[in-house]
Amino acid sequence: MHVRRGAKHSTADKVAPLAPPDNRIVRCSWPSNPLAIAYHDEEWGVPLHDDRGLFEFLILEGAQAGLSWDTILRKRDAYRRAFDGFDPAKDARYDARRTAKLLANPDIVRNRLKIASAVANARAMLAVQEEFGSFDAYLWRFVNGAPIQNARRGHGDIPVRTAESDALSKDLKKRGFSFVGTTICYAMMQAVGMVNDHLVSCFRYSALRPDDRAAAAPPRTADRHPGVIENPSAGAGANSSPGFARACPGRRSKSARPGVRRRDRRR
Ligand SMILES: [Zn+2]
Repeated sequence: MHVRRGAKHSTADKVAPLAPPDNRIVRCSWPSNPLAIAYHDEEWGVPLHDDRGLFEFLILEGAQAGLSWDTILRKRDAYRRAFDGFDPAKDARYDARRTAKLLANPDIVRNRLKIASAVANARAMLAVQEEFGSFDAYLWRFVNGAPIQNARRGHGDIPVRTAESDALSKDLKKRGFSFVGTTICYAMMQAVGMVNDHLVSCFRYSALRPDDRAAAAPPRTADRHPGVIENPSAGAGANSSPGFARACPGRRSKSARPGVRRRDRRR
């Protein structure tokens, strides 16, 4: 935390320093507008365990394919209204008439395949919930139940896909989901906190590392949070993790986040 120590501010050392002005916060470079900044600061990478929320990200990430994430963020509220709050039980019952209504909605991405996919994915999700108890329980198995803690030094270190997203994509497709390619899956994994892909320099990075939070908190018991997976290919030497960052040939040209956005415009 930056504390001013100028002679004219002699009380600066005596009062609790305020949070620095927003422009002094170091964050990932991809958020470029207030909506994206709020999303980055409050949501992106926060572990999510709510089926409705997870379904929302599944659908929005699929809707984003070929578009910018900023576009999807702007349409997000309209999406929630159009899709009954992303309640998969409701969405799964959409008939042709309701689908036609969605296709006529100018506030969402009016792509016939994407809309049909969303409805089919809702049905597939109900089957997953039936089998695993929840979509949450199913999804988090792909990271053994805890966020993978990466140590990205720069956006160039962030892949568009990983072995975990490959496995998730393959399994989702097997279960009848669509618009769930591995890069879409990885973008979702980043968004719902299955991986911590904030840059180490970003103020959210430590906030989302359980060990760091424990270290910063008053000592309690032996409070090491179990289940934190250190990614062996992206530790302190993240820049030298060719196997992790390089095995990612397909970058989506117009996408908007680390893992899915071009190097100069990452999110
Ligand atoms: Zn960040």
